[in-house]
Amino acid sequence: MKDLKHEPCSEFGACPECGKCDAYMNVNRNHWLVCHEHKYKWCAGLDLFGTWRDENDDTWDANAEHLAGYATVIPRYFMTAFEELRQVQMRGAA
Ligand SMILES: [Zn+2]
Repeated sequence: MKDLKHEPCSEFGACPECGKCDAYMNVNRNHWLVCHEHKYKWCAGLDLFGTWRDENDDTWDANAEHLAGYATVIPRYFMTAFEELRQVQMRGAA
């Protein structure tokens, strides 16, 4: 499990309940982001982080088992600074 405490993960979505994203776990090339508090998971995508290449079936089996206890949700997305700026510009043009 990769701790995301020090990494921005908003571009991959956040827990719809609390807006947090605690870690990600790989199952093969799939990256699952999780909120431990609410036991939610959402798939960030495939092969975005190279870490899965250093793992093996044992790790993925353990991760899949852990994730089985988590509910799949649609994550919440926050606007990036760029999107915010674009919205401000659009409002100015209207
Ligand atoms: Zn949460």
